[in-house]
Amino acid sequence: MPELPEMENYRRRLVEAVRNHVITDVEVNREKSVGVPVAEFVRRVNGRTVVDIVRRAKHLVFALDSGDALLLHLMLGGSMHYGTAVQRPLDTCQVIMSFGEQHLYFVGLRLGYLHLLTASELRAALAKLGLEPFDPALTPQLFTSLLTRRSTVLKVKLTDQHVIAGIGNRYSDEICFAARVLPLRKTGSLSGEELAALYRAMHTVLEQAIAAGGYMASPFSTTDTTTGGYNGRFFVYNRGGEACRVCGMPIVRTENAGRKVFYCEVCQH
Ligand SMILES: [Zn+2]
Repeated sequence: MPELPEMENYRRRLVEAVRNHVITDVEVNREKSVGVPVAEFVRRVNGRTVVDIVRRAKHLVFALDSGDALLLHLMLGGSMHYGTAVQRPLDTCQVIMSFGEQHLYFVGLRLGYLHLLTASELRAALAKLGLEPFDPALTPQLFTSLLTRRSTVLKVKLTDQHVIAGIGNRYSDEICFAARVLPLRKTGSLSGEELAALYRAMHTVLEQAIAAGGYMASPFSTTDTTTGGYNGRFFVYNRGGEACRVCGMPIVRTENAGRKVFYCEVCQH
């Protein structure tokens, strides 16, 4: 599932492609994906201008000049592609937004969605999210107190969207590796030094992943050479049994609360 770096990468691509552009046509092939009747979606979206695209955690918000917003969550299997009619993806597109000759294709929106919301509905939808990892309000002191307030498995805490929003299964494991801390530790057992290392690792891992374009396999458009640049750069995630890039020992794959967990027994403590 795309996480903060992937969605931030998409946001940057979308700002270049469609910000301040008028939506000249809209096609909805799956009503559930948009959350309102198709006719209402078309009436409220067609002809509007996308005034901005902002990211909140793993969501993107397309702000329309009417004050309405489109709230996107790709969940598992969702992706976006931008191009001409000839470049339309072969997979089923649940929603297509057109900008003249260019089209924004939404693919794989089955668990994911592109909900049409009013400004107040949008506020309500995002109200329960925790702080962004890069929010200046999230100081090392607050980070420590959020993690240790109640002792829980570190990975569970890092991926709890009500605590810190935007980190998922994949980057939580990478952050723990970079901080040299085992993801299944209880947060109450972490030393001040380990908490400081986790705070730094959260920033560096996410920054590097954003800079490299995240891990999404397929490019946003034919001219996009950024997306997916972080693929192949993971240290532990999905590398069970493979050699640790630092010490050479096999990466451990296990499960916790139904989620995959990866770590190196030698490098992490
Ligand atoms: Zn190692």
